[in-house]
Amino acid sequence: MSEECLFCKIVAGEIPSDRVWEDDDVVAFRDISPQAPVHVLVIPKRHLASLDETAEGDAQLLGRLLGSCRSIAEQEGIAGAYRVVNNCGAAAGQSVFHIHLHVLGGRSLGWPPG
Ligand code: 5GP
Ligand code: ZN
Repeated sequence: MSEECLFCKIVAGEIPSDRVWEDDDVVAFRDISPQAPVHVLVIPKRHLASLDETAEGDAQLLGRLLGSCRSIAEQEGIAGAYRVVNNCGAAAGQSVFHIHLHVLGGRSLGWPPG
């Protein structure tokens, strides 16, 4: 856990969140500022700042994050019609430096994103 990290505090339950998924390695909760009818953030319990900070040894965890997105999409009723996004780095829009995947759905999604 990183003491100053917002999402580590959410994992620890120090900051409340609307959780939709949890297993040994992963937590998912609704985004506080949803950009679509379904907007869930999927994060590892272990602190990793961004995708850039992951290494070969994190492959299993990364796979579990993506697999959780699939399960959440099914649970949320958006299977077959959703987007998974990772913003890596401030220039790409990352604002919380604990790696997370956005699961977005429930409306039509344009391409390319901004
Ligand atoms: P990023 O911009 O880093 O890709 O995504 C961070 C996301 O975290 C944003 O979509 C933002 O709305 C969300 N967020 C920021 N603070 C909180 C919070 O305290 N609770 C929840 N549930 N989401 C948050
Ligand atoms: Zn963290």
